[in-house]
Amino acid sequence: MGDKVHKYKAYTLRNFLQIKQLTKLSRTESRDIEVAGNILPFRVNNYVIDELIDWDHYDDDPIFNLTFPRKEMLTPEHFRMMDSALKDKKDPEQIKLTKQKIYNQLNPHPAGQLDLNVPEINGQKLHGVQHKYRETVLFFPSAGQTCHSYCTFCFRWAQFIGIEKLKFATQDSELLAEYIQKHNSITDVLFTGGDPMVMNYKTFEKYIDPLIKIYKTCGLQTIRIGTKSLSYWPYKYTSDEQADDFIRIFEKIVKTGINLAIMAHFSHPRELETNAVDQAIRRIRSTGAQIRTQSPILRHINDKPEIWSAMWRKQVNLNCIPYYMFIARDTGAKHYFELPLVKAWEIYRHAYQNVSGVCRTVRGPSMSCTPGKVQILGVSETGHEKVMVLRFIQGRNPDWVAKPFFARYNPEATWMSELKPAYGDKFFFEEELESLYKHKTVDSELFNFE
Ligand SMILES: *Cc1c(COP(=O)(O)O)cnc(C)c1O
Ligand code: SF4
Repeated sequence: MGDKVHKYKAYTLRNFLQIKQLTKLSRTESRDIEVAGNILPFRVNNYVIDELIDWDHYDDDPIFNLTFPRKEMLTPEHFRMMDSALKDKKDPEQIKLTKQKIYNQLNPHPAGQLDLNVPEINGQKLHGVQHKYRETVLFFPSAGQTCHSYCTFCFRWAQFIGIEKLKFATQDSELLAEYIQKHNSITDVLFTGGDPMVMNYKTFEKYIDPLIKIYKTCGLQTIRIGTKSLSYWPYKYTSDEQADDFIRIFEKIVKTGINLAIMAHFSHPRELETNAVDQAIRRIRSTGAQIRTQSPILRHINDKPEIWSAMWRKQVNLNCIPYYMFIARDTGAKHYFELPLVKAWEIYRHAYQNVSGVCRTVRGPSMSCTPGKVQILGVSETGHEKVMVLRFIQGRNPDWVAKPFFARYNPEATWMSELKPAYGDKFFFEEELESLYKHKTVDSELFNFE
């Protein structure tokens, strides 16, 4: 593009004190980041620092909260434990043990979850692939298990560290193609991570080519790429050395006849305001690819209807299609970010009321849980009883989808597991779900925001 090349510079626990804007913080505040950053994901880059964060108001800045670990994100007890491990004992073994202890209390992410929904072909497990809903396979390329910057609410990066079997060798991408050919119901392949768009071009091409090759001989219609790169590193599509290569392969996918959908994670309208993101979106759209947008709803970041309506409008202005509002779960800093389901629905409703139909392609708030994606349709009254109306947007059994069902009104519940059926003692799908998973442990589910 002839654009100035922007050099990517990452900051982590090791070097974050070099960020010059941090001189605005007190020494205690910087120290708090270090303590919390030993537990929560911490990696931020020069684009986020220079273009997205408003340093004059960093203390309640949504992007600062999104990327910098803060004291309040840990429980006081965990904070104290980590603080003293770092302070009194510079003993690395002690620090490691303390970290491990806190991790385990936050969210152990048993390896079992990675086995769940892992398909097989010719008696061989397809590691790095999940097939939960009939039409869509999720694909976790091993080279995409990191991100341009980390979100403080997300623990996904941590669950993959050191999990060898997730390594997805290139020949396995041929296996994935074979699996798709054998299952005609599969219309969508969704690349996810981490962030698959941290991949370099050659690796990306190796994953895409087999899909292009089989396109004519299977049910494949859509390749989706879940990514936060448009928020965290839009130069990927404009001035990076390989930007033109990516644009060309997007064009190639579209020319083949495949629908290419970039599932872009945007959490706040601020992320849509820079020149760089504007350019990146235009370039991607020029290839014929679509951009669909999604984000979890999070306290301290986007828990106001005005934020969502402004974000959806701006997205439509930029030719993006609002897609999902998620409920976040299972995060290390859950207590800091979570809000009740009823509250999330109220925010969704008020935001939705204030935009025109072109923004109302968005669905939510939605929880990705074991039986499927459950949408909170709202609070209603039947007879004299207040109930919550829910429905599946996606179901482990496709027959469950789009059938409203009812839970007892619970203004405090933050997740499906805290809801009780309004009528009878089980939800309509529960017995079938139990029989599907008789032999498996299903206590934790992979969560997917992109
Ligand atoms: C969200 C999700 C999908 C995609 O669902 P859509 O409603 O088609 O966007 C596919 N697989 C899993 C496991 C998911 O969580
Ligand atoms: S939400 Fe997405 S971009 Fe953010 S840390 Fe998690 S995987 Fe990475």
